[in-house]
Amino acid sequence: MFEGLSGRLGDVLERLRGKASLSEDDVKDAMREVRVALLEADVALPVVKDFIGTVRARAVGQDVIKSVTPGQMVIKIVHDALVDMLAGRGGAADADPDDSAGDADAKADDDASAPFALDLNATPPVPILMVGLQGSGKTTTTAKIALRLTRTQRKKVLMASLDVQRPAAQHQLAVLGEQTGVDTLSIVMGQKPVAIAKRAMEEGRKGGYDVVMLDTAGRLHIDDDLMQEVAEVRKVTRPAETLLVTDAMIGQDAVVVATEFHEAVGITGIVLTRVDGDSRGGAALSMRAITGRPIKLMGTGEKMDALEDFQPERIAGRILGMGDVVSLVEKAAQSIEMDKAEHLARKMSKGKFDLEDMLTQLQQVQRMGDIKGLLGMMPGIGKMKKQIESANIDNTMIKRLEAIIQSMTPRERRFPDLIKASRKRRIAAGSGTTVPEVNKLLKQHQQMAQMMKQVKKMGGMKGMTDRLS
Ligand code: GDP
Ligand code: MG
Repeated sequence: MFEGLSGRLGDVLERLRGKASLSEDDVKDAMREVRVALLEADVALPVVKDFIGTVRARAVGQDVIKSVTPGQMVIKIVHDALVDMLAGRGGAADADPDDSAGDADAKADDDASAPFALDLNATPPVPILMVGLQGSGKTTTTAKIALRLTRTQRKKVLMASLDVQRPAAQHQLAVLGEQTGVDTLSIVMGQKPVAIAKRAMEEGRKGGYDVVMLDTAGRLHIDDDLMQEVAEVRKVTRPAETLLVTDAMIGQDAVVVATEFHEAVGITGIVLTRVDGDSRGGAALSMRAITGRPIKLMGTGEKMDALEDFQPERIAGRILGMGDVVSLVEKAAQSIEMDKAEHLARKMSKGKFDLEDMLTQLQQVQRMGDIKGLLGMMPGIGKMKKQIESANIDNTMIKRLEAIIQSMTPRERRFPDLIKASRKRRIAAGSGTTVPEVNKLLKQHQQMAQMMKQVKKMGGMKGMTDRLS
């Protein structure tokens, strides 16, 4: 039966077997693999431990989709948890350390899917401060963000380099400004970073700029004096965003860098650069977990337009290095729905259709949105489709029907004839409906069961479709 179905899904249905739910042992074995994958991806050990603990609790007892192994199922759960954590949706990433730096902090959970990930909700000119180690990509990213704000947000942007450490640094930004057509603050030799920052804000006000990007000097290592300087710049300019720019290849050092910058300066978000490289991306997870701050953007190349909104799925897939498994499990999640449909169809083809089956079907209809979708998969079934459509099934009604059946005992569901007046009153009261509604449902069920018998007489669904087409 269901020729169309078995043709397309035959293979999947054939392989449907396995356990009903994940045992502690399944989870333990898979967690060992996950732990290795995370460490190899350079996720910091304390973060790995935390994460594994959270996920293990989540995984034990979970239903296993029949067409995958328990191990693959755990990987899927791990993958989803990773994405949640990277995206800052619940989980271990909620561990948000106290912030020592004061002002523009309470934005940890900015919506990463907003049109542009940065928060520019402040009186213009809105300052954005870029911090990070030397060579992490601060200057490049400053220009990339400025270009994007100019192009897609129609903002008037001024860029200023506060980097007085390297003689050529201010010129580097000026060159990028010319390339991108974004204004840069004029260079005054001998000025200190804090003074340049003040001048930039002044110029921003006078020139009617929407945004002032402040690019700071790099540090080779964490250096107290330089860190102090950046903290001071932050204090006088009160930036709406303080972005920590880090190289995705940074690996285990990510923890130290993120902690130090977050404690000394206070950051509102992270930009991950060199995502075009072949790093496994563990740094992203460590930094997200340790600072509690969102990863907002990612750099994917040297060119000025190589800047994208952060994509947690992409990084999660890389960290696990198991993209194939994930897509396999995704497909299996769809096939489980088909599995239930097939089971019901097999029963129906035998002419049996009790209230339990009706409940399953109602739930299926709800999940699939529309019974037409299900019927559409069967060729030549036009007549029956019309019949069911005319039964006028909509979702709020389905919810009530579902409640009625759920208020019945298993025995009543199997033998609807048992349901007489007093039982009807009990069921109506239990489901918050009325006796006429219960009656109506029983009548509907009768009609459907009748239809199933007819189907059987015609030689099953196959015979029926042959006759109809
Ligand atoms: P800064 O010292 O933090 O200001 O770093 P720079 O912005 O000067 O960048 C250092 C180098 O990294 C430059 O050669 C950039 O072109 C390069 N770079 C920055 N971001 C990316 C990126 O996302 N991908 C790649 N491949 N290179 C990048
Ligand atoms: Mg620089």
